[in-house]
Amino acid sequence: MSKTVLEVENLRKLYPIPRGLFGVLRRDSQQCVHAVDGVSFSLKRGEILALVGESGSGKTTTGLCTLGLVEPTEGEIRLEGQAVFELAQGSQCKELRRKAQMIFQDPYESLNPRQTVYQAVVEPLKVHRLAAERSERREKVTAALDDAGLKPPADYLQRYPQELSGGQRQRVVIASAVVMNPLYLVADEPVSMLDVSIRAEILNLLLRLRDEHQIAVLYITHDLASAAYIAEQVAVMYLGIIVEKGPARQVLSNPQHPYTKSLMSVIPSPNPQRRKKRIVLKGETPNPIDLPSGCRFHPRCPEALPSCSQVVPQYQSVGEDHQAACLLLE
Ligand code: SF4
Repeated sequence: MSKTVLEVENLRKLYPIPRGLFGVLRRDSQQCVHAVDGVSFSLKRGEILALVGESGSGKTTTGLCTLGLVEPTEGEIRLEGQAVFELAQGSQCKELRRKAQMIFQDPYESLNPRQTVYQAVVEPLKVHRLAAERSERREKVTAALDDAGLKPPADYLQRYPQELSGGQRQRVVIASAVVMNPLYLVADEPVSMLDVSIRAEILNLLLRLRDEHQIAVLYITHDLASAAYIAEQVAVMYLGIIVEKGPARQVLSNPQHPYTKSLMSVIPSPNPQRRKKRIVLKGETPNPIDLPSGCRFHPRCPEALPSCSQVVPQYQSVGEDHQAACLLLE
């Protein structure tokens, strides 16, 4: 049985809104942006969990909290059993930064245009004093670039980011993460800024690195198709909560929540016989400051019942480790 690396329990992150003079005079209760509102999941060694949802659903905030980069309002996050935010605040912060790494969406922004590839990948080794000798550092950087598919590595060491393609830049970003030999990786939309032709290559690279190094990966995406390709587990987020979660194969072959069904319906199928009717959601995502009552999805849900605006749905088990929160299942 694989070891659990990351545990997230009832994570909430609320951002209070400054009230201004009139708010203070009215003494009304403080309003908050409900970025993440009670999210729980766990990740085992060598496992990939895809956090899927529209922009503003709270995926990135969840990822940042798991790295100790954002302080949760409530809830527990543990990496190898240790409270992440306490590690981030204390003397073990450096060790946390070594163990838990992040790959950002935009490889153009992630790299310093004044640093060569060598300087970008060697920097974390120097900061964390992971290799004392210059020759050892060069060896580790070369191995990381090779691992990330930049071959031969010697051809890339002295290049600047502007001399590389988008895919090559993302490989450099991945090399600077894996050079630290991390335990846990947050990959936040790592392929969404790349050409379609190279997205599969980067996803395959993440899969290979996961297999070779047994890294636990939180893969954040709005694209259910890429989640289906890469992840063993899927959690679908809507307005700060997980509405459906479980083994990727089960969730994607038999979605139960109307929101997951709508996301699935827009994935193109190469087989015309198996094309599904697109479910187009009405309206915009509601304001995370003023959340809808009852089920948060009810203003846009094509299957809403009259009771959906009053009753908050609880998770129902719909298969082995597969759960969804919808009144239609109760
Ligand atoms: Fe739709 Fe009601 Fe289910 Fe919410 S609880 S997803 S509104 S059917």
